[in-house]
Amino acid sequence: MKILVINCGSSSLKFQLIDSDTEKCLAKGLCERIGIEGSMITYAPEGGEKKKTETPMPDHTEAIRLVLEALADPETGVVKSLDEIGAVGHRVVHGGEKFAESVLIDDEVLKAVEECNDLAPLHNPANLIGINACRRLMPDTPMVAVFDTAFHQTMPQEAYLYGPPYEYYKNYKIRRYGFHGTSHSYVSKRAAEVLGKRYEDLKVIVCHLGNGASISAVKNGRCVDTSMGLTPLEGLIMGTRSGDIDPAIIEFIAHKEGKDIDGIMEMLNKKSGVLGLSENLSSDFRDLEDSYNKGEERGIRTIQTFCYRVAKYIGSYVAAMNGVDVICFTAGVGENAPLVRNTVCGYLGYLGVTLDQEANHKRGEDIVISTPDSKTTVMVIPTNEELAIARETVRLV
Ligand code: ADP
Repeated sequence: MKILVINCGSSSLKFQLIDSDTEKCLAKGLCERIGIEGSMITYAPEGGEKKKTETPMPDHTEAIRLVLEALADPETGVVKSLDEIGAVGHRVVHGGEKFAESVLIDDEVLKAVEECNDLAPLHNPANLIGINACRRLMPDTPMVAVFDTAFHQTMPQEAYLYGPPYEYYKNYKIRRYGFHGTSHSYVSKRAAEVLGKRYEDLKVIVCHLGNGASISAVKNGRCVDTSMGLTPLEGLIMGTRSGDIDPAIIEFIAHKEGKDIDGIMEMLNKKSGVLGLSENLSSDFRDLEDSYNKGEERGIRTIQTFCYRVAKYIGSYVAAMNGVDVICFTAGVGENAPLVRNTVCGYLGYLGVTLDQEANHKRGEDIVISTPDSKTTVMVIPTNEELAIARETVRLV
């Protein structure tokens, strides 16, 4: 079956068409600046040439219409007719406590997703717009919602509750939800497969280090803790997000600089992280590594601070699971930055971790990067959220 996977943001939309029999991507692309002047669609059939076209996209319905047109284009398309698309899988950011699994979309599900909007006001409304636009254009095609939060719903209460009064949990459902769940689930399962071990027997820590970064503890196939919280701002230091801070810093800066809450949240989400720590050098680890290798203080301090935080979380999840068998690195930084993996693993001597430096410099494959005598196995597993969404979609339709 051919599955269209859609990841819809407020002004952008990423798509992939996946053949679920071969699990190969047939085509992928991106619509940018939807509803803004200068909108653009990028379309790349597998093995073919990538094409960028500037064309008006006043709304998401038009963006999805253009995606479908590109997929069925007589020359560069990958399907003869849209009937070949058996189902659509939509990434949905926040499923609150309502969704511990992916679901087949109907009106009731959409209402429940809408009820989660206040938990993710920037993301969920955009996801819903994408789903509604798709339903309008493909009314007879089954659609599935795959939630970023769902995999983490197995966390025990002591991991998801915060310290403020319990009434905030009761009244507003303020708690840890976690994100990147599709990736944490895919990578931890894949690690077990590659090692030829039973998923249910393993304690796995997944370090999803991309522009957004989170880490999770997966014990016997169930997530028991994760570093992102009510929102994706908590936890690791990220590309532009601060991660954990003393909450009183907010008041301190507000007084010092006369900022309001929106100004401070903008700073913590967009101007912090490795971008802010490097004094605006870059949020991209390729630039930071260059700076580190040149011996520049700002590159060194940024990478060291980032890696220290990852190592500290690994330690806390070893405590949470009373041990760890496998540590996995994934996403843009986790898959491509040997320096980051090496620095993080430098803190893990107490787990008997030793890295195979040659393996640590390989790229693009599921691979063990620890030595055969390392007491804890360390792996790089490239994440594939689109494939995971396509698999969930097939499972439900
Ligand atoms: P997201 O999905 O959160 O946008 P990705 O997982 O795609 O992020 O990761 C993007 C980040 O990965 C980039 O910002 C960059 O920091 C890092 N990255 C990508 N390629 C490399 C590389 N070759 N070496 C080091 N870092 C890289």
